[in-house]
Amino acid sequence: AAGNRPESQIGELRISGLSRAYGAHTALHSLDLTIRGGEFVALLGPSGCGKTTALNCLAGLLPLTSGRIELDGRRMDTVPPEKRGFGMVFQNYALFPHLTVRANVAFGLKMRGTGKAETRRRVDEVLRLVQLTEQAHKHPGQLSGGQQQRVAIARAIVMEPALVLMDEPLSNLDAALRLEMRSEIRRIHQEFGLTTVYVTHDQEEALSLADRLVVLHAGRVSQIGTPAELYEHPADPHVAAFMGYRNMLTLNVVSSHGTQAVAQRPGLRLAGTVVGEAPVAEGQEVTVAIRPEDLRIAEDGEEPNARAVAEVVEYHGRALHVEAVTREGDRIHVKAQREVRPGDALAVAVDTDRALLFPASAAADGT
Ligand code: ATP
Repeated sequence: AAGNRPESQIGELRISGLSRAYGAHTALHSLDLTIRGGEFVALLGPSGCGKTTALNCLAGLLPLTSGRIELDGRRMDTVPPEKRGFGMVFQNYALFPHLTVRANVAFGLKMRGTGKAETRRRVDEVLRLVQLTEQAHKHPGQLSGGQQQRVAIARAIVMEPALVLMDEPLSNLDAALRLEMRSEIRRIHQEFGLTTVYVTHDQEEALSLADRLVVLHAGRVSQIGTPAELYEHPADPHVAAFMGYRNMLTLNVVSSHGTQAVAQRPGLRLAGTVVGEAPVAEGQEVTVAIRPEDLRIAEDGEEPNARAVAEVVEYHGRALHVEAVTREGDRIHVKAQREVRPGDALAVAVDTDRALLFPASAAADGT
């Protein structure tokens, strides 16, 4: 159960106004984030959004340009990395090749001067937790990628760090192993309860692992929330794109009523909920986001929301994923429950008004 190791439990880690610039380029703009003890937080965003910069600032590998980091009220950003007591797991495991699994995991405790019996007890416990007891005598070269990554995790958590920092730890593993290690990391976190910050560009990984997600875009926080909050209520088009809204269309408002509005372009008409500064004005440009699974092929005789020609058809188990193009050149993604072939003319309908309408200002940051 989480919290069976009170000595490694922190109260909170408070990050305030954390900025980092590389020369004239600001990679991270004033990040504010408070992480509760035992929480698993994912930093999510596309390449270059500042995830690794944030993690390296936490680790002490990069000095901050401004801001502060406090652990239970104690200033941490002035503490050198080795004195912070944080554990790190990277995508390249950086194991000692000449040492056995057991010696790799015991290394940090040995350096710290932990007694032999205590070291053995803790290494045994952690090896059991990551299911490597049988491999303890082997060298890293004799292990699979997933096993090596488990050694790297064991080596970090055996130190019972105040904070575990993980930077894309699964990105070097093949698809099947990634899934397996994902649930492994979740299980280890549940059992050990260590406060964790996890960097990834993979939204599925972030949604399945984290208690809370921090979505970054161009060095700024787009949104912080639980997986459900972000999935149900994305705050801007960047978050929506990460949460499965494959369709992002620029349309013009034709009518609005409170937070509900209808927007269209030739060949396309969508109704939905305005996010942010409702009400929107007639004629105003909005970014309309809708998930492929909320679009379907219209019934015969039904008034469609869009007309488009299928271009790419992918088999996705129970449904086909169809990429289609309207006459105006707008690209839409539709989940089709029936046979569709490239070149087919499609009438596309929306069952409920599931679209989100973002006024242009919400996306007005040049991307
Ligand atoms: P990725 O997923 O590709 O690692 P990231 O979200 O982790 O991306 P960062 O590595 O934090 O992004 O980089 C953020 C921004 O800072 C990028 O625009 C990057 O080009 C820039 N940057 C990172 N490191 C340096 C550096 N040492 N010198 C100059 N610019 C840098």
